[in-house]
Amino acid sequence: MPGLVIVGAQWGDEGKGKVVDLIAEQADAVIRFQGGNNAGHTIVRDGETFKFHLVPSGILYPGKTCVIGNGVVVDPRVLTEEIEGLRRRGVDLSGLRISANAHLIMPYHLLLDHAGEAKLGKREIGTTKRGIGPCYADKAARLGIRVQDLLDEKILKQKIAAAIEPKRQSLREFVKDPRLDLHTMTEDYLALGHRLERHIADTPPIAWKALDDDRLVVFEGAQGTLLDIDHGTYPFVTSSNPVAGSACVGAGVGPTAIDEVWGITKAYCTRVGAGPFPTELHEETGEHLRQAGGEFGTTTGRPRRCGWLDLVALRYAVKVSGLTGLVVTKLDVLTGIDPLCVAVRYGGPEGASFDTFPYHQSVLHRARGEYVELPGWHEDITGARSLEELPDNARAYLSFVSEQLAIPVVMVGNGPSREEIIWSEAALALRPAAA
Ligand code: GDP
Repeated sequence: MPGLVIVGAQWGDEGKGKVVDLIAEQADAVIRFQGGNNAGHTIVRDGETFKFHLVPSGILYPGKTCVIGNGVVVDPRVLTEEIEGLRRRGVDLSGLRISANAHLIMPYHLLLDHAGEAKLGKREIGTTKRGIGPCYADKAARLGIRVQDLLDEKILKQKIAAAIEPKRQSLREFVKDPRLDLHTMTEDYLALGHRLERHIADTPPIAWKALDDDRLVVFEGAQGTLLDIDHGTYPFVTSSNPVAGSACVGAGVGPTAIDEVWGITKAYCTRVGAGPFPTELHEETGEHLRQAGGEFGTTTGRPRRCGWLDLVALRYAVKVSGLTGLVVTKLDVLTGIDPLCVAVRYGGPEGASFDTFPYHQSVLHRARGEYVELPGWHEDITGARSLEELPDNARAYLSFVSEQLAIPVVMVGNGPSREEIIWSEAALALRPAAA
């Protein structure tokens, strides 16, 4: 199984970091393919908590090749801080590679992101205001500055000047802001480029070589399927494509390089920011999930909206990302909730009923989950290391999900630390394949 894509199957924060970290051990390379420092992964290793924003999750294995792919947008200030922080904690970063073609988040992108959300007022999207959207907009407008530009002072200055020009109008309240001074910005970015230089590389050949040698390459997605700019709940989405197909574009490989696609889902559902959420719980159970699951953003600290597992949305994710396996995380958070509800369809106004994810936003905004009740369990499940060790009702819950989605559950998370995971046969099979 040389090419494995791992994506979020919900609205992000599904626990991708921990899963990628575990699988990365067997991989030759881990490649992030989209998003920016609006993503945050938390990995708990030997009691130590690591929070990553840009660096791929495999970095905790010394010397592991971890690539920030061309599809990622990079804030070089954030990245250098993340690198320095990890280095101070003794993490070996010699395997870190940054695509020379990745686009850079510039100071004006941050200002535009703030200004854009402020202008929307109550209708704000709930972006993380890290400049990600404006950076992708400049990429599409052919006004982007790329990582490779950091290595050429003349080009960098010219490109920044050209990129700022069309934004003068929206940024006029910041004309005197030193962050927008062309000279200062060029100097700052050259200095950051200097610090990052040893990691800058032509990255697709790294993936090609590993795949040609039949080695395991993990393509690591950020955010989740329902936040996809094409297939998610637009406009309450991220500005890139977290679906699995985007791994090819964002890492520089063809679709035939992908052998398996695993979607990560929590055993329940969360969403950050605005937008439709048909299984949202506003009462006690929602608050219980938030506290028990620690549902506060890694990057922003914002409380996450919580709700029941949504199989309508997951069926959709299975299709748009072509999922071949499901990783269910945070099963332990459901312990003690009895009965458990799982949405198998949506209801809408005037008796409407939907088995599939409604394409029209007006419909989706008013859709509400229709539930099947399943019996819960009360035993502590964090010690289970095989499906057989789980209580019958927990196994039945997983089987129900797997049958409804018609894909196997390949791994189950039953606690935050890396030991708290159940590997299926399919997941265990990665090991000899990569040996
Ligand atoms: P990501 O962005 O998809 O990696 O998700 P986050 O890192 O934002 O959120 C996942 C959080 O859940 C982290 O704090 C993890 O330590 C934690 N976590 C991951 N898997 C499990 C699990 O199976 N059980 C519990 N209780 N916590 C988990």
